[in-house]
Amino acid sequence: MDRYDICIIGTGPAGISAALTAKNRNKSILLIGRKDLSNKVIKSHKILNYPGLPDITGEDFVKAMREHLDRMEIEITEEQVTNVYAMGDYFAVQCAKEMYESRSVILATGVMPGSLLPGEEMYLGNGVSYCATCDAALYKGKEATVLGYSPKEEEEAAFLAEMADKVYYVPVYKDEVKLSDPKIEVIYGRPEEIRRAEGKSTLVLDGQEIVSDGIFVLRDAVSPGQLVPGLETDGAHIKTERDMSTSIKGLFAAGDITGTPYQDAKSVGEGNIAAISAALYLNGKERSNG
Ligand SMILES: Cc1cc2nc3c(=O)[nH]c(=O)nc-3n(C[C@H](O)[C@H](O)[C@H](O)COP(=O)(O)OP(=O)(O)OC[C@H]3O[C@@H](n4cnc5c(N)ncnc54)[C@H](O)[C@@H]3O)c2cc1C
Repeated sequence: MDRYDICIIGTGPAGISAALTAKNRNKSILLIGRKDLSNKVIKSHKILNYPGLPDITGEDFVKAMREHLDRMEIEITEEQVTNVYAMGDYFAVQCAKEMYESRSVILATGVMPGSLLPGEEMYLGNGVSYCATCDAALYKGKEATVLGYSPKEEEEAAFLAEMADKVYYVPVYKDEVKLSDPKIEVIYGRPEEIRRAEGKSTLVLDGQEIVSDGIFVLRDAVSPGQLVPGLETDGAHIKTERDMSTSIKGLFAAGDITGTPYQDAKSVGEGNIAAISAALYLNGKERSNG
């Protein structure tokens, strides 16, 4: 298996900035995220305070960043990272489809919208899952509930319905749901709590409850503590030093995930610092290994 110098997780402004700088520093990089880069940037109507790009729309900003990546011949690996494990000398980056290895990691996953549902963390791995691709096979002949935080999760629900007998789909967004599989029932409501008893999981909505064999909570980002076991966090954010290093050696963080203000310019700046710090860390390691 190839071992990359720097694995960058997230394709928002922070991750893109880190990737561009890491490439400039001649490091081998693995950039994991989505081809359309960042839902948050796409949703920005107009960005008024980004230097040199007055009045740019979110969509045009994404387009410009994509062109920049193409020009620098940086590819995006479209995957969802489920866990990052510090293995001593390197990191194992577990994705839904593959496992990757990297000597350092930059987390640029953005901040999770809203807070965890009561019961979500407690039942994670026991009736609650974050990854349909990883766990769909366990639902053969069973019923599952999917809580989708963006329209792209409809694909995951459709995939799950190929295995499960029945899928309840709860959209947590305003766009029209385009699912047509008769095995999928779309239910609208505000999620309030997750409960688990006698092998069944219950999603409590305002006004009704959905009981099934398990619940998939599908968001763009998961909380950093769940992504990286043992990482020091401060609520939804990762604790960092000024060089964007974290409590784990070789692991850096940048962008919204490190705290407020949630801004494009701050994210880009931190991505740049994180990449330079990761490069210095790797160079230092090489020197001390002789
Ligand atoms: C409506 C709106 C308007 C805004 N307007 C402005 C503005 O005018 N000016 C301004 O400066 N800021 C604005 N912002 C804020 C700005 O968009 C954010 O600060 C910025 O996008 C943060 O960049 P980021 O790279 O940290 O994270 P994000 O842009 O959130 O990107 C994170 C990326 O990581 C990916 N990811 C997350 N978890 C995983 C995982 N486990 N595996 C793989 N990939 C993962 C996500 O899919 C996403 O692609 C606005 C935000 C919104 C929502």
